[in-house]
Amino acid sequence: MRAFNFSAGPAMLPEAVMRKAQSEFLDWNNTGMSVMEMSHRSKEFMAVAHNMEHTLREIMAIPDNYKVLFVHGGASLQFAGIPMNLTSENDTVDYVNTGVWSQKAIKEAARYVNVNVVAEAETFIPDESEWQLSDDAKYVHICQNETITGVEFQTLPKTDKPIIADFSSTILSRPINVSDYGVIYAGAQKNIGPAGLAIVIVREDLIGQARSDTPNLMNWATYNANESMFNTPATFSWYLAGLVFDWIKEQGGVEAMAEVNQRKSQKLYDLIDASDFYYNEIDPNVRSWMNVTFKLKNTELDTVFLEESKAAGLLSLKGHKAYGGMRASIYNAMPEAGVDALIDFMKQFEAKYA
Ligand SMILES: *Cc1c(COP(=O)(O)O)cnc(C)c1O
Repeated sequence: MRAFNFSAGPAMLPEAVMRKAQSEFLDWNNTGMSVMEMSHRSKEFMAVAHNMEHTLREIMAIPDNYKVLFVHGGASLQFAGIPMNLTSENDTVDYVNTGVWSQKAIKEAARYVNVNVVAEAETFIPDESEWQLSDDAKYVHICQNETITGVEFQTLPKTDKPIIADFSSTILSRPINVSDYGVIYAGAQKNIGPAGLAIVIVREDLIGQARSDTPNLMNWATYNANESMFNTPATFSWYLAGLVFDWIKEQGGVEAMAEVNQRKSQKLYDLIDASDFYYNEIDPNVRSWMNVTFKLKNTELDTVFLEESKAAGLLSLKGHKAYGGMRASIYNAMPEAGVDALIDFMKQFEAKYA
């Protein structure tokens, strides 16, 4: 009954998580109410919140000197939140522009601080030897995975400045060393849970420097001092994110996710590279494990491809309008069987129309 949904976000959630949420939807843990209906200050909900953070810390191996903040406004509010929390007006910050999400972050930051764009490219990541880094930058910002084109950093940039990274579409896809970063931030709706929640993982010495006119609900210190409950949080999104973290742990953690994710993406890229009918424009060294883009050489077939794939139960394969073509978003919750079904469909489609 459930289709394979390749949407970039909000995206598929693990079926086991959805079933669990369904089974306790009306009555959570014999409380006689839905988790959605309980006070965020109740001891029941506080337990949900604490468990969620605990499991996230465990699966990401987040060191004690990093705070985990559950924030409002999506990753996009952090585009402003980052300069507001980390800089003064006359400071300079370095941004790498690898695509649309980098550009949005740059544009917003430029309202608050001097932004130096150190390198730009769309289908590859410029060699670090060519980056025009500034000596006095307060931080270096990267978009770890450009969701629209499918360009993903596969190595850590070398810098002694704090690296601030937008992990929205790749958090939890593999093990990372949190200590390599100053701040990791992500909207939930790709690889964490339902929309409405964003996560900021921040080294504790970077908290407490916000500009005096920073709104309380954008100031990381406010979240840190109030267990992310200065006001009412997106309680149902927190709860569901907690179920997703439990699921990841049960599957064998981010190490197990990584193994499957690499295999899923590699077999799709292999099919595309072997074909004269489909192609992928991204430098193979930085191809995303999460968002696999491909184009049809004959663009007149795009509409037919989308219609027939949809009829085959493979949903939302249309690429972002800023880039065109097709995009298969294959986050943790996309079963390998979904990728196999897509590969079968692509082969049959090629055989029919080539
Ligand atoms: C989806 C996405 C965003 C925007 O997230 P919101 O939660 O909608 O603000 C930002 N950055 C990247 C890389 C994304 O994929």
